[in-house]
Amino acid sequence: MDQPHVTLNDGQKIPQVGLGVWQTPNDEAAPAVKAALVAGYRHVDTAAIYENEEGVGEGMRQSGVARSDIFLTTKLWNTEQGYDQTMKAFDASLKRLGTDYVDLYLIHWPSPHRGLFVDTWKAFVRLKEEGRAKSIGVSNFYPEHLEKIIAETGVVPVLNQIELHPDFQQKENRAFHDKHKIITQSWSPLGQGKLLSHPVITGIAEKLGRTPAQVIIRWHIQSGFVVIPKSVTPSRIAENFKVFDFQLSNDDMSALIALDDKNARIGPDPMTAS
Ligand code: NAD
Repeated sequence: MDQPHVTLNDGQKIPQVGLGVWQTPNDEAAPAVKAALVAGYRHVDTAAIYENEEGVGEGMRQSGVARSDIFLTTKLWNTEQGYDQTMKAFDASLKRLGTDYVDLYLIHWPSPHRGLFVDTWKAFVRLKEEGRAKSIGVSNFYPEHLEKIIAETGVVPVLNQIELHPDFQQKENRAFHDKHKIITQSWSPLGQGKLLSHPVITGIAEKLGRTPAQVIIRWHIQSGFVVIPKSVTPSRIAENFKVFDFQLSNDDMSALIALDDKNARIGPDPMTAS
């Protein structure tokens, strides 16, 4: 199936829509990943802390889709930061996933109070050199954290996965990303479901004969973000991927951009998160 890709600053291409599997235990992750791959997804986003890497690997194998056709992301948890710890944690993730490489490895949070994210990034650079992490990036980094790892290593993360939904748009962080050719990836792109009943969104959805989730995912795509909506329900997984055959008009995009509210953050502030 034709689907849009975004080219990363290291030349690798990432499918613009992927499946998120946070809060999905192994026995639910395997069928969800399989359903997504059968529906046409080729990108899955997990993390060591989700404790479902085994299920994700299982779902990939059950789908019958070749490993080389799947873009797989996992993330290093905060307590594993530091050079040697990272190398060990990466091996453990690969083992749980049942694969010998990931397409993208992310530092989950900067966790500034540990003072370890630069050493951690140096280990990431080595994993990329070894070819075991095809691309390396970060999550929940502010510009000051990004500046630090770039200054220390000269290696720019391919993307920064941050909380981003129509009512929390992170414009300042995105401007920094754009300047440094860092792709913005949206986590909790549907606002964890809370935006699905917003009248502006349901209004656009009714007008276009689409669902609210499809309208929001389309907004992320047309904004140039990589987006990883989560569902474990096969019909919703399929619905969230049927977003490549329609367009939001400039007026619809503007109406969604107008929902931005700096106070609508759902998750923790990365400056103080664990
Ligand atoms: P989300 O915004 O993707 O919303 C998911 C919820 O929306 C689902 O639980 C479901 O209740 C509902 N939903 C999904 N599709 C629907 C549909 N078509 N119709 C009706 N309801 C629907 O929330 P999320 O899971 O928080 O974020 C997505 C992914 O982002 C995660 O699974 C994870 O992979 C990633 N994430 C990363 C971080 C990070 O720190 N890097 C943090 C949170 C999430």
